[in-house]
Amino acid sequence: MSRGWKSEISSIKDVDITWNEPLSKYTTFKVGGIITCIIYPKSKEALSKTIDVLKGACVPYFVLGKGSNLLVADDLPEMVAISLKRASVEAESTEAGGRVQVRAGAGIALSKLMRICLNQGLTGLEFLVGIPGSLGGAVMMNAGTKHGEISDVLEHVTMMTEKGEVRITRMNIKFSYRKTHLPVEGVVWDATLHAEKAEKKIVRK
Ligand SMILES: Cc1cc2nc3c(=O)[nH]c(=O)nc-3n(C[C@H](O)[C@H](O)[C@H](O)COP(=O)(O)OP(=O)(O)OC[C@H]3O[C@@H](n4cnc5c(N)ncnc54)[C@H](O)[C@@H]3O)c2cc1C
Repeated sequence: MSRGWKSEISSIKDVDITWNEPLSKYTTFKVGGIITCIIYPKSKEALSKTIDVLKGACVPYFVLGKGSNLLVADDLPEMVAISLKRASVEAESTEAGGRVQVRAGAGIALSKLMRICLNQGLTGLEFLVGIPGSLGGAVMMNAGTKHGEISDVLEHVTMMTEKGEVRITRMNIKFSYRKTHLPVEGVVWDATLHAEKAEKKIVRK
């Protein structure tokens, strides 16, 4: 592990960093020891550069969504969590030929995404109601319930790698029970899901 990675990371534009954070503050089950740092990239470029520096220095890292599916050890080696909380947390919908697509940042909470869909009269994603995760976590875990799962509605994802942006369409993604297998190693930046227009009162039901 190269020693200079901390100053390299600190000099990346558009990232916030908190050092020596107890991960127990960020997991639903309130478990997890002190992590070297949590990095909050605020742009795609910052995220790509972050991955590049960490990979180059052989520093292990993982993405921290809302921490609702993470059991973290008390004793952690030098490692980094990347959080998209301060990055892509908005959603927008587009309609063409009766088809509606909802594109949202991976850091958005599913509860916020559900509210946006309800306000815009979009139906088809209600199976996510009550799952306490982020969209990125839901994509990676193929989250769902008996009413449906992410694989039913995912159209494509934007991944960030150390080399930049890669768009992956559903035909190149494999899904299994509560697991999504992406062909590229990286961080999910956003996801596009399909939905349908409906009257608000129907969505609310
Ligand atoms: C009370 C409770 C109820 C639950 N109910 C359900 C349920 O009904 N159905 C269900 O499917 N699950 C359920 N879960 C599990 C959990 O909420 C889901 O798996 C959820 O999708 C995890 O999202 P998260 O943002 O919390 O991910 P995290 O727990 O933070 O991370 C999960 C995994 O995804 C990875 N990850 C997260 N974001 C990204 C990203 N942007 N790019 C790449 N990797 C990423 C993480 O590194 C980790 O490997 C429940 C959990 C709890 C505590």
